[in-house]
Formats: sequence, structure tokens, C-alpha cells
Amino acid sequence: MFSYRHAFHAGNHADVLKHLALIAVLKHLLHKSAALSVVDTHAGAGLYRLDSDYAATSGEADSGVAALVAAVQEDQAKGRQTPELVLTYLDLLATFNARDELRVYPGSPAIILSQLRYEARDRLRLFEMHPTDAQALAGNLAQLPNAKLASVTRQDGFEGLKALLPPPSRRAFVLIDPSYEIKTDYRKVAESIQDALRRFPSGTYMVWHPVIPRPEAHSLPKRLRTLAQQASKPWLQAVLRIGQVPSAEPTGMAADGSLRSEPLRRGMSASGLFVINPPHTLREELNGALPYLAQRMGRGRGQGFTLEAGG
Ligand code: SAM
Repeated sequence: MFSYRHAFHAGNHADVLKHLALIAVLKHLLHKSAALSVVDTHAGAGLYRLDSDYAATSGEADSGVAALVAAVQEDQAKGRQTPELVLTYLDLLATFNARDELRVYPGSPAIILSQLRYEARDRLRLFEMHPTDAQALAGNLAQLPNAKLASVTRQDGFEGLKALLPPPSRRAFVLIDPSYEIKTDYRKVAESIQDALRRFPSGTYMVWHPVIPRPEAHSLPKRLRTLAQQASKPWLQAVLRIGQVPSAEPTGMAADGSLRSEPLRRGMSASGLFVINPPHTLREELNGALPYLAQRMGRGRGQGFTLEAGG
């Protein structure tokens, strides 16, 4: 079950969508002075090198964050406007890198931690099952300011979440971002959301999901929508499609055979986010950024986006 390594996928189009939305959600939630409890149920390693063998093997960041950086540089050279949220995202990435370089890509734990407030007693609880990534995560976060606000547990994030809701602060944001490496992840996501809404109905919940031709992937956002409606909670769904991917490169393997890319996301050209109790500003923020992402990271046939909300 541990064949998935996010290092292959860091900075791809799915990360761009997810991390942009993450920044927009946090920006809003952190406006209020009361402490915020954040849970990242599937944390990954926290920081990734885009010049590593993993990233080079997959090349996924090339059609994700690297394509976006190139687009923004072109805009600036031609005096064109870039959506505010895209600039905020790239500014945040720059804080993890030396000037004019993009070698380090921050994963969700590092992005969240960079936004949390020590004085407000915000907290970040992270779950990561992979032994190597859990260890890397703890080491990576220890180097960052605000490290004391975070704790890492090598445990099933679906299970770990239950004990954290409702949070003492009565304000929570939960990111659920599984690898969907195993089919049961789809069911577990829906069950976790159902349980979380029962334990803490006013929390903000963000689920990342792949858009791939698989029945479970197709039905997950529908199930989430039904759960939000049954709980009478507002929801938002955003899907970003970068369109036809040129034929996949053969999967690389290190000399010792240790590098493995899993088949699910190779060639994945679209992904989505489902948010329950989204900040009221999120729709407008994404509406400003999604057309730009689809156009500037898009690769041809099928590229585009959808943004729907209800409740
Ligand atoms: N959220 C990260 C980010 O945006 O930077 C990426 C996370 S990656 C998509 C999913 C991670 O979940 C992988 O590192 C995988 O090892 C881990 N994982 C898989 N099953 C898990 C589980 N049941 N509980 C916690 N972590 C799990």
C-alpha cells in the first residue's frame, strides 16, 4: 500500500489547484482573531525538491507550477495582469526558495504552517502513514518558523481525525487529500466527512479528488454534495482540467530500483476540490484564478474548469 510517493507529483496541476485554494481558505479563516485548529489527514513529506530524481522522473511540475511561473513571467514582460490569488501563491512559494529559483516546493503542511499565527495559538495536526515520508515531514517542519504549532503523527488520518473534532478552539479547517491508491479511500473520504459533520458541523472541510474514468472517482463528489445538502451546509466544487497530456514518458526507476511511480495519476489531466462550509470569499477568488490556470497551464483538447456552489 505504500507505493505512492507525493515527491513524484509535487507541484503538478493538482497541487497548484489545491494549494491555491488552501491559501484562499486560510486567508479568510485567519482574519478572525480566535485560534484555528487545522488538520491535514494525508500530509505527505511537507517539502519537496523539484530538482530531485523523483520530480525529474515524472516531470509533472513542468506542466504545473513551472508552466504557471513561465506564464506569469510572460505576463509581466508584456505588462499583462495576473490574478491576485496566483500572485499570492507564487509569492508564498518564493519564500521557500532563493531569489529567482524554484527548487523547493512546499506541500500542504508547509503552506499551512507558514500562515498560522503563534500569538493566536493556532494549531496544525498532521497525519502521514508512510514511514519515510512521516519521518521526512517531521524533519522538514522542524526547520520552519512556527514549527511548534505543528505535530506529526504516523497514523491513519481518517481515524486520527475523529478524536480531534470538535476542537477546543471551536474553529476548524480540515484538509483531506488521500492518494486514492487504494479503492477504499473513496468510501473512507465520504464516511469521514459524514462523521466529521456530525461531530463538528461548522468546520470547513476541503477534499481533493482525482477526475479520472473510474466509477468511484465519478461518484465521490456526488456523495459529498449529498452529505452537504443533508447537513444543510453550503458547499463549493472546483474542477481544473489541463486537457490532453502528451503520451506518458516511461516510468523511471533508480539504479537500485527504489523509485516507483504509481499508475493512478500518470496522465491524470483533471482534478477537483470539494469544500463544505467554504469561506464566502472563496468562490470569487477561484472565479478570478481558474480561467487563468486553465488557459495558461492548459495543454489542448479538454482544457477548462468548472466552479459550482450551493446550499
Ligand atoms: N497533502 C499533501 C500536499 O498537498 O502536499 C499531499 C498528500 S499525498 C496526495 C497523500 C499522502 O497520504 C501520501 O504521502 C501517503 O503516504 C499518505 N497516506 C496514504 N494513506 C494514508 C492514511 N490512511 N492516513 C494518513 N496518510 C496516508
